Amino acid sequence: MTSRTFSALTIRNVHKSFGAVGVLKGIDLEAQPGEFIALVGPSGCGKSTLLAMIAGLESISSGEIWIGDRLVNSVPPKDRDIAMVFQSYALYPTMTVRENITFGMESRGVPKAEQADAVKRVAALLQIEPLLNRKPGQLSGGQRQRVAMGRALVRDPKLFLFDEPLSNLDAKLRVDMRTEIKKLHNRVGKTTVYVTHDQVEAMTLASRIAVMHQGSVQQFDAAQTIYSRPANMFVAGFMGSPA
Ligand code: ADP
Ligand code: MG
Repeated sequence: MTSRTFSALTIRNVHKSFGAVGVLKGIDLEAQPGEFIALVGPSGCGKSTLLAMIAGLESISSGEIWIGDRLVNSVPPKDRDIAMVFQSYALYPTMTVRENITFGMESRGVPKAEQADAVKRVAALLQIEPLLNRKPGQLSGGQRQRVAMGRALVRDPKLFLFDEPLSNLDAKLRVDMRTEIKKLHNRVGKTTVYVTHDQVEAMTLASRIAVMHQGSVQQFDAAQTIYSRPANMFVAGFMGSPA
């Protein structure tokens, strides 16, 4: 007997146009369960559009997106079992950190005790226990980003999507948070798609990197291979590979 195994995420020949303008031109990508992949490329190459399509926030012009064994092309965002962290923290300013993290659990009928346990678990993981009763306005940029990650984590999604989560932070904090994201992934082991324009960030975090340019993937390979054996001049130039 043969059994079919599915990737955690499969993107097949995905195209996207806005009006007459083609923005994604046949994207093929795949992530294994628990894998951390990065999408890198210069501004405007289509990274955020692709991520928004995985999240269901943008429609697909053609092609297929599968999450596990499920074709999600016409599945609404809330039913995709994903959690997304953006560059802007998008926390609710009038709610406490705790309320921001549990937001949505109430309406899904999660019992109070279970909510409290979940908050405890992610707060410990992200070391934000002392911040739970504060409002977002009373937090630093790094703390806010940690809360945003907590809110994503607490939902225990199948897939984590990050869109340049660190690009609003200063350089030092960016490096610290990079380390935290790495540790978090090692502990939680969630399949992650991480968008960044920062090659070093991608190299540090991801096991495989997709280098994008003008709406297509130039190379999708292990981080080390991308660096040491770039597929073309663009990849070499962008990743700063040795000549
Ligand atoms: P990146 O995240 O890599 O910087 P984006 O995915 O945001 O790139 O954008 C890719 C291209 O698609 C850009 O040329 C951008 O102007 C265009 N684009 C993105 N969203 C829209 C939209 N809603 N309508 C028209 N063009 C868009
Ligand atoms: Mg973007």
